[in-house]
Amino acid sequence: NSSRLLGKTILITGASGGIGAATALLFAKAGSNLILLARRTEALQKVAEAVRAVPGAGKVAAVQLDVSDKTQVANLWKAIPNELRNVDVLVNNAGFVLGVERVGAIKEEDVESMFQTNVFGLVSMTQLLIKDFKERKTGHVINIGSIAGREPYAGGSIYCATKHAVNAFTGALMRELVDTPIRVTEIQPGMVETEFSIIRFRGDKSAADKVYEGLQPLVAEDIAEEIVWAASRPPHVNIAELFVLPVNQA
Ligand code: NDP
Repeated sequence: NSSRLLGKTILITGASGGIGAATALLFAKAGSNLILLARRTEALQKVAEAVRAVPGAGKVAAVQLDVSDKTQVANLWKAIPNELRNVDVLVNNAGFVLGVERVGAIKEEDVESMFQTNVFGLVSMTQLLIKDFKERKTGHVINIGSIAGREPYAGGSIYCATKHAVNAFTGALMRELVDTPIRVTEIQPGMVETEFSIIRFRGDKSAADKVYEGLQPLVAEDIAEEIVWAASRPPHVNIAELFVLPVNQA
């Protein structure tokens, strides 16, 4: 029931494109307020404009933020207008995979950058919001994991390790918060056609497209619908995990 999202405030990391942007639009349709975070300001502003144009949308703030920058995360509240500081849902969506390389060939900087965003950034954002959620005795953390957090694949060791870390972290957090009204959800998508695939192949679009041969990938809106659905369950219902695949992916 999306009327439960009316007037709620949703903070989304990685909101400048793909799943994050689609999720922002869907929450806006339900009348939620939005805090949109990402590194690329121009792309982020475009999403913010599209969200503001949704009939019935609430207030919208777009703030440049790199989740892997601890100083930026620590100063986040200062960049958020007062009326949007009571966040109800944190969607930890920012993440990427860089390259398809065997363990011996992976560059140290790629190992670090994937862990810094996919794991350390997600942890920093969660710590920031959990403190606030505990004080206000409300809140919902929705982490975007992956099929890669369940099933490792050759050439994806580091990305899979980061998403396994997201899975472990999310499960532990849910159990730690069992005596509180705070909800914790992990959404694990299979293949979703976004810029993600192009970044994975370092800009090689034809290599990215080959991955989808013989199957119809999900679109960002498919995952956005699951995120919004999980957030709109009654307060006593916690959707712990959702594993969502294209029909021909196993
Ligand atoms: P996109 O590349 O389209 O979007 C990723 C978003 O994350 C962008 O908005 C990007 O914005 C942002 N981002 C990346 N690094 C940072 C950072 N350090 N700080 C803040 N924002 C950051 O990919 P998707 O929408 O597909 O991916 C979203 C999530 O879904 C990721 O966690 C991904 O791992 C997961 N996922 C995706 C799958 C797929 O097949 N597409 C499958 C399974 C999971 P900017 O560059 O402006 O910072």
